[in-house]
Amino acid sequence: MTRIFDPHIHMTSRTTDDYERMAAAGVRALVEPAFWLGQPRTGVGSFTDYFDGLVGWEPFRASQFGIRHHCAIALNPKEANDPRCRGVLDVLPRYLEKDGVVAVGEVGYDSMTPEEDQVFAAQLALAVEHALPALVHTPHRDKARGTERSLDVIRASGIDPGLVVLDHLNEVTVKQVAGTGCWMGFSIYPDTKMSAPRMVAVLREFGIDRMLVNSAADWGRSDPLLTARVGEEMLAAGFSDDDVDKVLWRNPVEFYGRSGRLDVSTMDGTDRSGGTFEGNSILRGGA
Ligand SMILES: [Zn+2]
Repeated sequence: MTRIFDPHIHMTSRTTDDYERMAAAGVRALVEPAFWLGQPRTGVGSFTDYFDGLVGWEPFRASQFGIRHHCAIALNPKEANDPRCRGVLDVLPRYLEKDGVVAVGEVGYDSMTPEEDQVFAAQLALAVEHALPALVHTPHRDKARGTERSLDVIRASGIDPGLVVLDHLNEVTVKQVAGTGCWMGFSIYPDTKMSAPRMVAVLREFGIDRMLVNSAADWGRSDPLLTARVGEEMLAAGFSDDDVDKVLWRNPVEFYGRSGRLDVSTMDGTDRSGGTFEGNSILRGGA
């Protein structure tokens, strides 16, 4: 069975049945980035309780189905606009030292306000300081302009582009990112935005290097098994098993492995990192 690493999925909003179905479909590891919770938060305490859930409760829930759970921690772009939430920036350094935290994210833009500019830049600086990858959410409205502006902020931050993924890309914005050295993330949705066949067309045109495919499953209509669907569509389109393994497993292992904290060993202790980082199940980061 194809082994799958979902590099962006919001399990907090999913049921335990989803974990069970994901494990049956081949999902062995995932990264859950911090985001909004539907109801806007009004203070720092509800963020820290949530972050504690991402490093405590969710990894436990995932482990019951043999899934390795890691997370990315950040003040999301939407809530960056509420001054009551700004104090989250002060508690982030404490979380960015924790074992299960493999990136800073989701950062980036929602409405491209001056507040979002400040919070985005401050969090990229934290990623640099803590030598962590950064997961950048590109806005759903005005996506091309938001992607361009995100790339400007990324360049100005001095972060190694190989430590950055720009996520929620599509056929238009992938062109803006392809030549930058940043990783390219795609969220596959059931009936809007990217679909599995469109994803396969992008992989044909732009290749499979620095490509990350996720289900982004959250509160909305979404499907945590769409990563597996992309694997099936890739095979049907003539990609090899090895190509599928690279896109759905080795790429996310390489990207988040740069945190030095990724553990993709099986729950019984066997290594399955896939050769690139042989003999070391706790990945110490790529070159
Ligand atoms: Zn997300």
